[in-house]
Amino acid sequence: MYINGKWIETNQKETIINPATEEAVGEVYIGGQKEAEEAIQSAHQAFKTWRALSGNERGKILLNIAAELLKAQTPIAEAITNEMGKPIADARREVVSAAAYLEWYGEEAKRVYGEVLPALDTAKQLMVLRQPVGVIGAITPWNFPVSMITRKLGPALAAGCTAVLKPAPSTPQCAIEVFKCFERGGLPAGAANLVIGDAEAIGKEMTSNPIVKKITFTGSTNVGKLLMRNAAENVQKVSMELGGHAPFIIFDDADLDDAVASVIGTKFKNAGQTCISTNRVYVQESIKDEFSKRLAEAVGELKVGNGMEEDTDMGPLVNEAALLKVEQQVIKAAESGATVVTGGSRLEDTKGYFYAPTVLAGTTDEMTIAKEETFGPVAPIFTFQTEEEVVERANNTQYGLMGYCFTNDIGRGMRMMHQLDYGMVGINDPAPIVPHAPFGGMKESGIGREGGTSGLHEFMEEKFVSIRTNAKLF
Ligand code: NAP
Repeated sequence: MYINGKWIETNQKETIINPATEEAVGEVYIGGQKEAEEAIQSAHQAFKTWRALSGNERGKILLNIAAELLKAQTPIAEAITNEMGKPIADARREVVSAAAYLEWYGEEAKRVYGEVLPALDTAKQLMVLRQPVGVIGAITPWNFPVSMITRKLGPALAAGCTAVLKPAPSTPQCAIEVFKCFERGGLPAGAANLVIGDAEAIGKEMTSNPIVKKITFTGSTNVGKLLMRNAAENVQKVSMELGGHAPFIIFDDADLDDAVASVIGTKFKNAGQTCISTNRVYVQESIKDEFSKRLAEAVGELKVGNGMEEDTDMGPLVNEAALLKVEQQVIKAAESGATVVTGGSRLEDTKGYFYAPTVLAGTTDEMTIAKEETFGPVAPIFTFQTEEEVVERANNTQYGLMGYCFTNDIGRGMRMMHQLDYGMVGINDPAPIVPHAPFGGMKESGIGREGGTSGLHEFMEEKFVSIRTNAKLF
């Protein structure tokens, strides 16, 4: 753990398991409430000096850290693949995207503008200042174990906040690598602290300690709700990036090859373990057979294996529990009448938590897979007749993170853009995410946004100031 600029050891260690081999890939020291409290105190002390730096000065340090991340791309990418299984090429890309968040916020730190408002009384000057909220607590998941850290800590540090981070227990070495870059990049002691260990104890300390002014969380909707309840006690601010159940709608006028390649990208990347992964593929009735055939062929070409092998397209799931969840969803769907077009089972003849890339046809809205986030490599195909019908069905979920729509009718594309109840919509675009755009969800997919200026303002308070003077101004 990294507290107040020092690497801390405790008397407890945890072994990290590689999901592709089920073998140990390292050990980390773990802690709990005590370490979380120390880290919060350290962030509290550091806040006084970190907030006093100019945005330019803070930005330069973030840019240094981004450069350090890129220099360490290979060891960081290897840590990602060994801890959570994604193919090494994707892990390298994740490091680049993690650095991109730091670069963007490093630049943006010098552009935190306030506002001057017109006064009703001309002897007054009315202003809005933007100030850092203070110490923040950040909790991140394992599926993007590096970029989720920089997407939170980049804007927080740029805003002048200081932070305590708890990473997911399956990917602590990734977090350690990122913090080594913080250290090498010249981040002052205490500005960012790393606490690994007991989620409940650390989370409780973060939500109950009055020093912590904001909780930023990425993970499941259930844990997000729990943190929101706890954060209510001290009226802490919250940003929640939670679960998703993305619809991918394909109209009969769409470019089918493009749609197939895009479903492959949005469904099987990261073995489907992405909050913006496609969960429901809606195909217009007239093209369902052709689309299913082409998708099954493309899925059959995916090479599943250990992510450390350069030609692997899809790695394992993160652990046995994730594998069981996917397996159960497919079994239940098949029992309720769905057909397995390809895949449909775990890979038996190998170690590791591998599930075959799967396509299901004949899935219906009543099935569990149509409602519960899959977080695995299963593409269930649903069919629809009309635009009106598919909008209603696509929106009929408690989630609202990402929606995709493929059509060559621009008017229809624009209608879908307006009518899909999702925080992000990709029209003919399977990969819309960029550091300067607001990422986040509606409904139970979350509150607040990460990325762009919205992501920076999440870590700032607006302060309204009125200065009255008796001086003659004109
Ligand atoms: P998770 O079980 O909610 O865990 C996320 C983090 O929360 C982990 O660090 C976890 O630590 C911690 N945690 C669990 N219980 C806690 C508690 N009581 N107090 C404080 N922290 C606690 O989610 P996951 O399985 O790791 O990640 C997958 C989920 O994240 C999916 O639902 C996915 O959609 C969502 N996600 C959303 C976004 C987005 O931007 N919207 C991005 C990526 C992922 P422990 O494991 O030690 O419990």
